[in-house]
Amino acid sequence: MSILIKNGVLVTAEEMAEKDILLEGEKIIAVKDEFLSGEIPEKTKIIDTEGKYIFPGIIDAHTHYFMKSPPDNVTADDFYSGSISAAFGGVTTFIDYAEQQKGHSIIEAFINRQEEAKGNAAIDYSLHQSVCSLYHNIKEDLEELKDGGVSSLKLFTTYKEDGSMLDKGNWLELLKMSRDLKLLVTVHAEDDEMIDQIKIKYKDREEFPPYYHTFLRPPEVEYSAIKEIGDMAKLLDMPIYIAHLSSKEGYRALKEIKKNRGKIFAETTPHYLLLTEDLLKKEDAQKYFMTPPLRNKEDNEALWEALKDKYISVIDTDHCSYTTEQKFLSSNCLGILAGIPGSETLLPLAYSYGVGRGYFNVKNMVNLLSTNPAKIFGLYPEKGSLEVGTDADLVIFDPKKEIIISDSGQHTAAGYTPFSGFKVKGYPITTILRGKIIVNNNRFYGERGGGKFLKGKESALY
Ligand SMILES: [Zn+2]
Repeated sequence: MSILIKNGVLVTAEEMAEKDILLEGEKIIAVKDEFLSGEIPEKTKIIDTEGKYIFPGIIDAHTHYFMKSPPDNVTADDFYSGSISAAFGGVTTFIDYAEQQKGHSIIEAFINRQEEAKGNAAIDYSLHQSVCSLYHNIKEDLEELKDGGVSSLKLFTTYKEDGSMLDKGNWLELLKMSRDLKLLVTVHAEDDEMIDQIKIKYKDREEFPPYYHTFLRPPEVEYSAIKEIGDMAKLLDMPIYIAHLSSKEGYRALKEIKKNRGKIFAETTPHYLLLTEDLLKKEDAQKYFMTPPLRNKEDNEALWEALKDKYISVIDTDHCSYTTEQKFLSSNCLGILAGIPGSETLLPLAYSYGVGRGYFNVKNMVNLLSTNPAKIFGLYPEKGSLEVGTDADLVIFDPKKEIIISDSGQHTAAGYTPFSGFKVKGYPITTILRGKIIVNNNRFYGERGGGKFLKGKESALY
């Protein structure tokens, strides 16, 4: 089956031009100013976009679909519903996590996670591997995972109590092994010791309302962790990638490391750019509860500036959805299930508030949402480009379409969005995954298991 997309404005990280694009099977086979009738294969489906934008498929490089958390909670979105929701937002690839369990190997975690995703995801996906404990032959296992398509690891500098954190004494060793194998280390950066110190101050309290989350995990803990891990990576002359940068203080740490010629990179998310901690004082505070916590307007502004000045390489979402029923199970900030949905709103929010308010142009937006994550996580140019011969993943985007984001308009199984009420101008209309239309005019045409696992190559940051 061939598809010719006519009269669109192709936007990649490098250029913006009125061109037609021909897809055949799963690939982009030609890009030209205009195709003559003799050049169009028989039975080609022709889509006249009437001047809309064509972007490479969006990559949500930080998701948690079907994530289990002890004792018996699981996220609202599984791989199927999460990827459907993402597809409605123009996302054609997501990168989720295989999480090592204490006392078990990383290989086991990776195999289990593959099993969970296989046959369920409706868009393509890759996996980061989290590491919470080292064992005698872990380096061989890391090598095996690299061969199996893992290009990046995740290191938690916090969450000691639930076993996610790698003991500090092992950070250097993990970084060295990663450098040797050229695996990119991504970091959840919050200083756990500092958080413990702060908790001592509140030890006599019994109730911790949601807003206390901001007291227990203030921006300084992000600053401290970024400095520490950033300096360590600098010492080893290796790249390091900070997940979900949330604060002005965190950004200051990043700039300090960079100024010292450290190879430090970062992502941020729409919620740290657009939402503020006041929401945690509301009756339904749990709906806005994630870690790190929301900050204030000044932090939002600092992160927009960081994007403008190209200190941040990627915008993704940390999509980790729970229903309001799950969210309201606790009103204690030490017990609320942390995380919010986000994949579906990523592109429209980045366009309306990033391009719309002049923090970056539309080419830079494509870079932040597609090309950079593809390069950083080893998926380029199959993903993140509109080059001839690569996967025909693309989004037809109407820059004039105006929508007020609402809970009922979303497809996440969470049943709500923290961005409800946000006005956006510019919305994805059609999502194409490897040559197949999976979303068009607010209808889903994809299928369970239609997505495939992508083997990540070496990160472009090495
Ligand atoms: Zn996360």
